[in-house]
Amino acid sequence: MSELRKCPITDRWVIISPTRGRRPSDFEAVSAEKTDNAKCPFCEGNESKTPAEIIAWRKPNTLPNTPGWQVRIIPNKFPALGIEGEVNRRGIGIFDMMSGVGAHEVIIETPRHNESLADMTEADIDKVLWAYKHRIQDLQKDSRFRYILVFKNYGKAAGASLEHPHSQLIATPITPRYVKLELSNSRAYFQEKERCIFCDLMRQELSSGERIVYENELFVAFAPFASRFPFETWILPRRHHSDFQGTPDDERMQLAGCLKDVLTRLKVTLNDPPYNYVVHTAPNSITRPGKPDYWGTIEYDYHWHIEIIPRLTKMAGFEWGSGLYINPTSPEEAAKYLRESI
Ligand SMILES: [Zn+2]
Ligand SMILES: [Zn+2]
Repeated sequence: MSELRKCPITDRWVIISPTRGRRPSDFEAVSAEKTDNAKCPFCEGNESKTPAEIIAWRKPNTLPNTPGWQVRIIPNKFPALGIEGEVNRRGIGIFDMMSGVGAHEVIIETPRHNESLADMTEADIDKVLWAYKHRIQDLQKDSRFRYILVFKNYGKAAGASLEHPHSQLIATPITPRYVKLELSNSRAYFQEKERCIFCDLMRQELSSGERIVYENELFVAFAPFASRFPFETWILPRRHHSDFQGTPDDERMQLAGCLKDVLTRLKVTLNDPPYNYVVHTAPNSITRPGKPDYWGTIEYDYHWHIEIIPRLTKMAGFEWGSGLYINPTSPEEAAKYLRESI
């Protein structure tokens, strides 16, 4: 029986339509192909084939842009937005415009070509998370940027053009629409109830348990009630924090454990599917001319989280035209498969 469900965070409706009782094996996921590639610019030893590194997690006494690193951050060779110049906001008639300034960086997660994030040790995943934190904190000092979005494309079907494990970040002079929707709705919720909507949601998920995928002392992973996609999974910190980058170092290791566990469950259950994930954190709150108190309540309103989406289905005409997603796997079923997979 199909159902329409509404996401309490974004007010977005989805159609949960498990009409065919799909099992994980019914998805023809093209698993992310693996080949060894001596010419790969992200492999250790090929540092000269990439733009100069911004920062890296390096062994002592190794030089930048030489081997001896564990995580390496470089500017994207083909950036979507350019780092130079001013934002230059302007209007042309009813059209709003600004210059395409921003930052577009690549986080190379490991020196080893054939090691996926799910297979890495928690300590090595922690270094990737350290890189995210470091870059967000640095780019937040730039008052041109309103938002810094960290994301990962794994597998060709998820948009990865190079198979060497990497994630990316893009800093933008605007707050992206989907994040803004979450931000403004969670602010409205806090204004009304003086409670965080994500904390409330997590509390409810933990008490019902039917959509929980994994939990440890500090993090919870669950399939959201109004999942847009089969096996969509969110990771939230149990403690209320508005920004990812403020996560203390000792707590980050538990996040690494949670991320590894969830990615491993997806890999086992769905035969190493392509996936995307995105880190949703608070926007850049640096004060700027004319906006001295930009989002002064953000600390209370918002709760950072990671959204993971395996790429098992394609968006078709109805989704494109309506923004209404049809999900053939109920989140309760998906969570059950993932819970029982290991
Ligand atoms: Zn490589
Ligand atoms: Zn919260």
